Amino acid sequence: MKCPFCGDPNTQVADTRENEGGEVVRRRRRCPKCDKRFTTYERIDLKMPHIVKRNGNRSEFEHDKLAGSMKLALRKRPVTLEALDAAVDRIEAKLLALGEQEVPSEKVGELVMRELKKLDKVAYIRFASVYRNFADVDEFAEVIREVKARPKRSRPAEPPEPTSENDLFRS
Ligand SMILES: [Zn+2]
Repeated sequence: MKCPFCGDPNTQVADTRENEGGEVVRRRRRCPKCDKRFTTYERIDLKMPHIVKRNGNRSEFEHDKLAGSMKLALRKRPVTLEALDAAVDRIEAKLLALGEQEVPSEKVGELVMRELKKLDKVAYIRFASVYRNFADVDEFAEVIREVKARPKRSRPAEPPEPTSENDLFRS
């Protein structure tokens, strides 16, 4: 870390201490050039990434929007709220584990489709038909075939052009 006094890039750590139950690390640093001392604090940065849409717009990750669009796909399907919540938790954990500050919205869509496929095939097809913005009946039939022909693993589809309907994070 650069010295705040003289700008020398080669400061040295003189002392390292954990406080606040190990959630913050405090470091005393010394600049070998001007011999001044300063302190830095290091904490875990565990925040949901921003969502980047295909048009380049960024937005905050919103739990309610994610859960809401999955709930819509699961409407009147025999899936419990607990199972839905668990699926949302898994998606959020996966997004956090990426350790990125920004994640493309297609990535979120992919994760949602994967979870819905496990939860309920009808909900999966509902979501996929809106999200992928099927151009024709053949594409729709293809997804139905894919759902029936388990456990074959399919490659994720090309991400769709965003429309107001399939945009998970429209504001
Ligand atoms: Zn210095």
